[in-house]
Amino acid sequence: MRSLSRHAPRGRELLLLFTVLCWKSSWGSMSSGLVENYEAAMVLSAAGDALGYNNHKWEFCRSGEKIHKELAKLGGVENIDVKDWIVSDDTVMHIATAEALVEAGKDTDPAKLYPLLAKKYKESMDDMDGRAPGGTCMSNAMSLDPECPDGWKIPFEKHGGGCGAAMRAMCIGLRFPNPEQLDELIRVSIESGRMTHHHPTGYLGSLASALFTSYAINRKPPHEWGKALLDVLPKARAYVVESGRNVKENLDSWSFFETRWTSYLTLRDILDGKSQAKFPEKYGVEERDTFYSFLSYSGWGGSSGHDAPMIAYDAILGSGDCWTELSNRGFFHGGDSDSTAAIGASWWGAMYGFKDVPKANYKKLEYRERLEKLGRDLYQLTLSQGSQPNSK
Ligand code: ADP
Ligand code: MG
Repeated sequence: MRSLSRHAPRGRELLLLFTVLCWKSSWGSMSSGLVENYEAAMVLSAAGDALGYNNHKWEFCRSGEKIHKELAKLGGVENIDVKDWIVSDDTVMHIATAEALVEAGKDTDPAKLYPLLAKKYKESMDDMDGRAPGGTCMSNAMSLDPECPDGWKIPFEKHGGGCGAAMRAMCIGLRFPNPEQLDELIRVSIESGRMTHHHPTGYLGSLASALFTSYAINRKPPHEWGKALLDVLPKARAYVVESGRNVKENLDSWSFFETRWTSYLTLRDILDGKSQAKFPEKYGVEERDTFYSFLSYSGWGGSSGHDAPMIAYDAILGSGDCWTELSNRGFFHGGDSDSTAAIGASWWGAMYGFKDVPKANYKKLEYRERLEKLGRDLYQLTLSQGSQPNSK
């Protein structure tokens, strides 16, 4: 008995070591330190949020042209020191999601993780002064009762299609980056999303944010992401049916998200998941504002669960590894700019780390150390479970 019990942990240790070595060798060539990408996905998301928000001023400015004029007066994004630019609700709630994932540790069982997420979302409402939280997030997060067995569940809501679930889900993709963890990514992004947004347009936005982060950290080429999202939707639908909550209402409202994404991908000519995205010849500040508004539910581009990730994706597709271009397209526009920025910047950080990002944009950022630590903790957690993301 004794020798057996000694032998078993050694076997597990060896297996873990082997898995860690596999992880390291498959990723080593792509990045000198994957942990930096995890940190960047957390920190740059918050930097994008702060820049797009500009202390309330730019989130609610409906004119991209006006924002770009003010940006030019500040000397462009390169010259913005975010020292006095607070993060908005997006980052506070993203931190809440990440803290719940880290505190739950390896145990992602619903009975443990969901009450923890609900607790963090509820507590995050104590830190919303001056951060312009969305109405749906606020009222529903306050109604959660993490102490009760089903206290994390809220009823279906016709108006629950806002972007508040999408803006805080990127770290779920950092936690479940392995294609073999797809079912968990789907389950956790949907359930964390519908703790405040029980409507497919809302919680599928959460799924898109998480899924694309997992693609970004795995270096899947961005033009393939959109089709891959459409391919995942039947699994998400099956999960929602299987979970048994308000199934009819959910299915009745299901098609909007899928139809809008199909139209967008068709327009960019990437519905096949193979072609490179095509943009109009003239696609400046004004044209982008018009297009973002066209994508939207009610005129405010990026304020819903379908179009916040869509605009962030559009910016990623059009920017390559250029942070300034990403900011021009994804942070500074006349729509819900802090949310599209928080999402797009997280994907960008997951792919490129802090590459060429002006230090002023994040060095003195509010909560920077907390965000860096969450990135490191999520990295360690994923690594310790022997997850081995693929390069595709
Ligand atoms: P959040 O907490 O998500 O920010 P809000 O209550 O501030 O939520 O709403 C954000 C946006 O969500 C609004 O601009 C609204 O038009 C949009 N919205 C509400 N219901 C839906 C829906 N069913 N589908 C798409 N968008 C919706
Ligand atoms: Mg915000």
